[in-house]
Amino acid sequence: MATMITHPIIPLVLGCSLGLRVISVRLLSVACVASILPDFDIIAFQFDIPYASDYGHRGFTHSITFAVMVGMVGILFHRALRCNRWIGFSLLFIATVSHGILDALTNGGLGIAFYWPLDSTRYFFPWQPLEVSPIGIRRFLSGRGFEVVRSEFLWVWLPLFTLGLLMYAMRRRFQRSSPSSTGT
Ligand SMILES: [Zn+2]
Repeated sequence: MATMITHPIIPLVLGCSLGLRVISVRLLSVACVASILPDFDIIAFQFDIPYASDYGHRGFTHSITFAVMVGMVGILFHRALRCNRWIGFSLLFIATVSHGILDALTNGGLGIAFYWPLDSTRYFFPWQPLEVSPIGIRRFLSGRGFEVVRSEFLWVWLPLFTLGLLMYAMRRRFQRSSPSSTGT
């Protein structure tokens, strides 16, 4: 997996780009949780479910189908999340599906069951620049952690923060030049 601090960057950058008028704080908070939700499947190890099983780590919770199911929460609870139902669906879907996409860019473990339940094959992308994060805090802190964070900073944080800043600047500029923002 990529680290738990890297996955929420995707919804945060989208929130920063589109603004709180479109994406409420509540929706953004739930989307950050959705972005790490797939990794709750590591509980499978406690129940001796094999890694390669559909119900093992990087199995069904990392699939596109699971992301659609999480997206449905955005439709069902759009009022509580204070958003348009399709914005709710889209952000929760993107936050969840992006988790598997980032994991498929890592260089270790098994691939991602993107197409569960139609296909149990585990997939990686051909380009895997991200160091895979060890499972468990102790192993993470035991030396490999620095390499993991370095690769995620270089290939995820830096480009996405740059993109987010650009989108934020463009949105501010658009709002300033929009006639409605001047009250005329
Ligand atoms: Zn994962």
